[in-house]
Amino acid sequence: MPVTAVVGAAWGDEGKGKIADALAAGAGVVARFQGGRNAGHTIVNDLGRFALHLLPSGVFRPGVTNLLGPGVAVDPAALLEELDGLTAAGVPAPDLVISDRAQVVLPTHVLADRCEEERLGARAFGSTRAGMAPFYADKCLKVGVRVGDLFDPAWLRERLGRSLASRNVLFRHLYGREEVTVDGLCDHLSPMIERLRPMVRDTGALLRRRLAAAERVLAEGQLGALRDPDHGIYPYSTSSSTLAGFACVGLGVPPRSMDEVVAVAKAYSSCVGAGPFVTEWRGEAAQELRRRGGDRGEYGATTGRARRVGPFDAVATRYGCRLQGATSAALTNLDVLGYLDEIPLCTAYRIGGRETTDFPCTRDLERAEPVYQTFPGWRADVSGIRRWQELPDAARRYVDRLEALIETPVSLISVGPHRRALIRRQPGAPDA
Ligand code: GDP
Repeated sequence: MPVTAVVGAAWGDEGKGKIADALAAGAGVVARFQGGRNAGHTIVNDLGRFALHLLPSGVFRPGVTNLLGPGVAVDPAALLEELDGLTAAGVPAPDLVISDRAQVVLPTHVLADRCEEERLGARAFGSTRAGMAPFYADKCLKVGVRVGDLFDPAWLRERLGRSLASRNVLFRHLYGREEVTVDGLCDHLSPMIERLRPMVRDTGALLRRRLAAAERVLAEGQLGALRDPDHGIYPYSTSSSTLAGFACVGLGVPPRSMDEVVAVAKAYSSCVGAGPFVTEWRGEAAQELRRRGGDRGEYGATTGRARRVGPFDAVATRYGCRLQGATSAALTNLDVLGYLDEIPLCTAYRIGGRETTDFPCTRDLERAEPVYQTFPGWRADVSGIRRWQELPDAARRYVDRLEALIETPVSLISVGPHRRALIRRQPGAPDA
């Protein structure tokens, strides 16, 4: 019963979409288990360039079932718009199934998210304003609406009424806005219900059948380990667990079914939104890396915001790999570093005069300074290389050291945004 998790080792935007799209070739199901449309996966393949938000990265593979599990925050309008966008771009309609237990992101969640960030002003968290925190808050308060609730009008009205009761107090008295009505929410949802109906089912039962038939299931994480609400840089974290362990919960599969965890990390660091980021570069060095990074510069796929960038942080990434329980790592964007004469790699933090390789709590992290080991750059375009042995010596030395620091075998090295720009490396294989 094999499940492979593809998850982020750091702050998110590590290139999970690219890796999941590549690995989807051998999968029967590609499943999302948490989060909503608040993140973006950029995928470049022969069909074009796409920014996926809510759809799993298997949508470009005919024959793959794409699944949104109970842990996902389903925004129906955003989902249908994304599907329409794919069709308009000439992608064949994917096989998509949505759990009847997944919950629905309502316009009130999105509005509450925006109102709260505006209220916080300079102290805002840098939310993507996709409604995630109010959505998961409602879920915990047990006033959420499940996808399966959409098909029973009376039950749906009752659930929406519960969700609105306390939300409207905040809208009126905290944010000074009009109250939202059940009728208003029904008007929003009604036109979408019949389109969703054929996609909705008991995805737990589906997964059990597929796993029993020995199909591989790819569980695709969103954001990264450092955004996990329990283990990450709280409160600059997201609202659902980003860890591979949670995939079993968010999908409803047994923990013993997961035999591979691929933690994805960039060959440098990038981070979008607020919070401590120890290796952050500023000024010209940051601008240059931001301009060269990713497929079109380091700008958020969902928000368009400039990402903060800097050298690889091995302290944070080792912590991320440990949290994920990584069995291997995929290192992306190695090609981007080819312009540098020297490449610093953060091996430890100095906090209040003490050096540590442990990843501390947020308060200490705020005052941590990076300790760097510097490597000679390779000053070459490696984007056409497909074999480990053909990478320049300096690039291999950099990856070898990074691999030792994160204590996880680097089995995939991505050297460009396209699906094919990938070096598959056997862990422990000799260099040449
Ligand atoms: P995700 O959310 O983890 O899937 O990551 P994003 O898609 O938000 O950000 C990763 C960025 O890196 C995107 O612009 C990708 O197209 C890009 N990318 C992924 N792998 C590579 C690579 O090896 N080289 C380059 N240059 N870009 C890459």
